[in-house]
Formats: sequence, C-alpha cells, structure tokens
Amino acid sequence: MDSRRAFVGKRILYVDQKSNMSGARLSLLSIVKGVRSHGVVPLVICGKDGPFVKALKTEGIDVGVIDIGSLFSTDPRRIVTSLLALVKLWCHAARARVDLIHTNSFGAHIFGGVVARLLGKKTVWHIREFTENIEDTPQKKRWRKLIVSILLLGATFLADRIVCVSKAVRDHYANGKIDHKLQVVYNGIDLDRFRYGEGTDYLLEELSLDAEDRVVSIFARLSPWKGHHWFLKGAALIKERLGRVKFLVVGSRMEYEIEEDYERHLRNLARDLGLGNDVIFTGFRSDVPALMALSDVVVSTSSKEPFGRVIVEAGAMMKPVVASSSGGHLETIVDGVTGLLVPYAD
Ligand code: UDP
Repeated sequence: MDSRRAFVGKRILYVDQKSNMSGARLSLLSIVKGVRSHGVVPLVICGKDGPFVKALKTEGIDVGVIDIGSLFSTDPRRIVTSLLALVKLWCHAARARVDLIHTNSFGAHIFGGVVARLLGKKTVWHIREFTENIEDTPQKKRWRKLIVSILLLGATFLADRIVCVSKAVRDHYANGKIDHKLQVVYNGIDLDRFRYGEGTDYLLEELSLDAEDRVVSIFARLSPWKGHHWFLKGAALIKERLGRVKFLVVGSRMEYEIEEDYERHLRNLARDLGLGNDVIFTGFRSDVPALMALSDVVVSTSSKEPFGRVIVEAGAMMKPVVASSSGGHLETIVDGVTGLLVPYAD
C-alpha cells in the first residue's frame, strides 16, 4: 500500500510562534498546502497574528492565534501568558482531535511537545535555525547556550522525530542523545511559481531600469547576519570594474529583529560608497520570481544560512548565485557549476 494513504484523513496540528513571511513560514505554507493535497487535514496555531495567518486564511486553512509568550522569559507576566497558552493549546488540540503535532519554530517546540505528550500523541520538531550568529555579543552567546541546553533536554523527552533543513543543521544539534531522532529533509519550492522566463516588463518601469542594465540582487530580510553590508561593499567593487550595474536589495526587517537601525545603516553605507543611484531598496516583495528573472546574478552573503530557500529558487530560475561558503549553501550549490562559493565577508 502507498504509505501516504495511511495519512489520509489524519489531522495534523502545526504550531509556529511567529507570523512573518520569512523562509520558515513560506516553507511551512508549502508543507501545509502539500499535505492537504494528499488528504491530510492541516490545522495551524500561530503565536501571533500577521501576514502568515492572513496567507493561511487566503488558502482556506484552519488557523488560530494563541499568544504563546516565551518560556525563556524572566518576566512573570510572560511566564503566566506561556502557562495559559499551554492550557489553551492543549484544549485546542484535544477539541480538534489531532493525530500529530508538528512544531515549526524554537518557541513552539516545547509547547507542542508538552501538549502532544499530555494527549498521548506523537510530535515532530522542524528545526530551521542555528543557535548562534557570527554577530552575537558574548552576552547573547551565553543566553543562546542556555536556550540550546533547554531545547536539547526538551528534545530528549518531547520530540519523536526532529526534521533538520540541512545536514549543517543536523550536525549542529547532533549530541549523542537525540541523534537517532534527527532526519534531514530539504525545503521544497513551488516550481510552478519559480519558472525560467517569468515576465519582467512591469518592473523596468517601476524600478526605473533600462532593459540593458545588468542587475545583481540579494533577497533576504534585513538582519545583520544576512550580511547586506558585505553585499554593498562588493557592489562598490563591481561598479568600479563594470560601470553600469544596478543592485537590488529585496526584503524588509522582520518584526522580531532587534537591530532596528540596520536598514538606515545600509542606506547610509550605500550613499557613503557612492552607490546612492545604483542600489534600489525594494522592501518586502511578493513577486520574487519576476525580480529574480530580472537579475543576472543572485547573491547570498549570510554568515551561516541554515538552508537558504533563495539559492534553490534562483537555481529553479537558472540564475547563477554567489554565496558565502558555509551552512546550507555547501549543500545547495555545486561550486563552479550552479554558482560560486566565497568565504564569508570576502
Ligand atoms: N522573500 C520574499 N520577499 C522578499 C524577500 C524574500 O518572499 O522581499 C522570500 C524568498 O523568496 C525566500 C524567503 O523569503 O523564499 C527567504 O527564505 P531563506 O531560506 O532564503 O531565508 P530565511 O528568511 O529563512 O532566513
């Protein structure tokens, strides 16, 4: 029997702490749509209202919002919120008669895991992030270390399977006690959406570009670990050598990013590097395929990308990439064939 048939009619509750449109949420959206097309009944709980909740509603997916606070907070009010959230999530999952709980972000794993155990159900943790960034301060590093210890302890008792988005992520968490639960499953992308030959005419006018302009682009939320500052420094060198080239910075700051000033810093840097007229900050866009079609090269300057959907999307559109040689990039790029790997900050 086709093993997928065993899941027909099963009810899976997906839990995510956030509701922005970062790669983690876009990946979850395609999972939820994918399992539904195979007869599974997906239900989603998000810790916040936001664009992801809206996108799920548009797709007709059953979605609710429960503020799951933060288990890692020392603020008594947040702790009370978290405990209440646990009860709410438990009631919701019991009422919805879910067969499995699948968690999609750090903040959701422990909550989903506890509720699944209380209900005697299995739980899958989907790990899409590393626990440290190159830019972390020593204080942040200590804080993150504590979070990882709690997570690993939780994973030992609460997770039945742990899906990692790359081998790099799997190796990051491997510690002997949970290794048998770790499984690598790469993110999929929608090949009907990311197609070679996407129309771009409307963009030329909107972005004031000439058809002959060469375009180099970065698609990433505005967060320092994504390394946009290195992209701009590289842009200045390219401009010096090639003259007329336009650089697109596609993406915006996510609500939880603490570095509010990063965009201002980048705009100032572009101006100081003499790129004021050559760099276009587009903000968050929902027409990434067309913007990629317009680009000659796609760049990813992240310090360490857990997976990097953008690389695979560019590949689907036959666009060469230049990316930092770390994390998931080492698994999604064939150096010298589908793109070029360069040391971070080179
Ligand atoms: N993206 C988007 N609009 C933007 C910038 C990016 O829809 O303005 C999408 C991009 O196409 C990709 C995702 O956001 O699917 C980013 O995923 P990735 O894994 O590269 O990075 P993450 O956000 O998970 O750190």
